[in-house]
Amino acid sequence: MQFIETRGNDGVKPAAVTFSEAILSPSASFGGLYVPTDIPTIDNAFLTKHLESHYKTLALDFLTAFGIDIEKEVIEAALSRYDAFDDPQNPVPLSEIETDCCVSELYHGPTRAFKDMALQPFGYILSKLAQQRGENYLIMAATSGDTGPATLETFKNQPNVKVACLYPEGGTSDVQRLQMVTEDASNLKVIGVKGNFDDTQNTLKALLASDDFKEELAARNIKLSAANSVNFGRIIFQIIYHIHSYLEMVRCGKITMGEKIYLVVPSGNFGNALGGYYAKQAGLPIEKILISSNENNILTDWIEKGEYDLNGRELVLTESPAMDILKSSNIERIMYDKFGAARTKVLMEALADEGRFVLTDEERAAIQEDFAASWSDDSECENEIARYVKKGYMMDPHTATCIKAYETLRDNPLPTVIYSTAEWTKFSPTVAKALGHPVKGDIEALTWVSGHAHVSVPPMIRGLFEKPIVHTVVVEKEGIKEEMLRFL
Ligand SMILES: *Cc1c(COP(=O)(O)O)cnc(C)c1O
Repeated sequence: MQFIETRGNDGVKPAAVTFSEAILSPSASFGGLYVPTDIPTIDNAFLTKHLESHYKTLALDFLTAFGIDIEKEVIEAALSRYDAFDDPQNPVPLSEIETDCCVSELYHGPTRAFKDMALQPFGYILSKLAQQRGENYLIMAATSGDTGPATLETFKNQPNVKVACLYPEGGTSDVQRLQMVTEDASNLKVIGVKGNFDDTQNTLKALLASDDFKEELAARNIKLSAANSVNFGRIIFQIIYHIHSYLEMVRCGKITMGEKIYLVVPSGNFGNALGGYYAKQAGLPIEKILISSNENNILTDWIEKGEYDLNGRELVLTESPAMDILKSSNIERIMYDKFGAARTKVLMEALADEGRFVLTDEERAAIQEDFAASWSDDSECENEIARYVKKGYMMDPHTATCIKAYETLRDNPLPTVIYSTAEWTKFSPTVAKALGHPVKGDIEALTWVSGHAHVSVPPMIRGLFEKPIVHTVVVEKEGIKEEMLRFL
């Protein structure tokens, strides 16, 4: 299996690269993204074969069919990271919330957000490749929430990789901040930045673009990689849980093999939805993928109106912060798949130069063959959280955006899987507010909600409040480079 670029090839860089090259150096030559030339088929025979399989068995078989250049033993060791999830037999359990709707819970890993699903095995593989090649990598992340903890967790004490994670001081929840600043390993550095998330992200971008920082890295023999969802090494693991969720629906009798279902995906950078799209293209019986957003509803416009327009839009800070995104990277991979490289280049360059692009009617219709979209504001989400707690199911604010999509976007009354991307414990003050008991801090909210709604707080969240804080550095934007060099 080879990987090519969404914006075509410039004739200078290699026309195609292997999986390991695509994940070690994810930046392609025209600023595009790497995509696979082909996806293995997911047909009835494949699904039937795995009806009784363990998650890891399914994953290994799918990754083997993909033909990636990673040894079987390495893939197996990477997949064994799922053994640390709540139930090693089933890392992604399904819960029924309506007779025709189940929630597939992607958050049963170490940091209680769905980022673990991909980052856990990905981190193992990236470190292993670096060791095999005798190379050293630096991963830098700017985070407002879930990516930071999951990136630190996966690379903790892994050889040949260092991680530096920048977060806006005061811009994360207590739980998210503690997940980062208590993460103790010599290859990890966490730096608080005075400013908001935009300041943090811009500081990181400026640092990564600066020539003298690049020289400093070269002098230390350190290469840069990335662990965000532009890296296909994350996407590949996000195809698998869609197959698993389908099989779970068959196992629990909601559907018979071959019957179509809807998926509802709470989306930001569109990695989760892209995994579902690839699964659908490969043959998984999916009617449509329903995209849910919060007030930053630019994906709704893209899918419903065929227009993507950043002009006049300001990022709104919502109660589902992991979806507070305006530039959604992975739609580029969808457009490449549908419209080809030349058109994708035109559209993405228009977005960069003019802040917008508009699809033709035929192009919009092509997107709508696979997707529909809607969005919910914070108060709608709070209402859904409260309504489902009464029915006996606790969901986080990101998951709550899915309910409207499930209720309004289905053309056919087919069974539906909603993806839950975070455990409520990561956003407990919002949940407490939704249940009519606003409190200040996370610890009060966790205690009140768990008592009120009879839900437990897992040990890795409770334990955070007793763990020693090891990363205390908070700097002005100007001070980041010096901190970084000290760390390296
Ligand atoms: C990252 C994240 C999302 C968005 O996922 P994408 O793959 O970027 O669309 C949604 N919910 C939570 C809780 C997340 O952490």
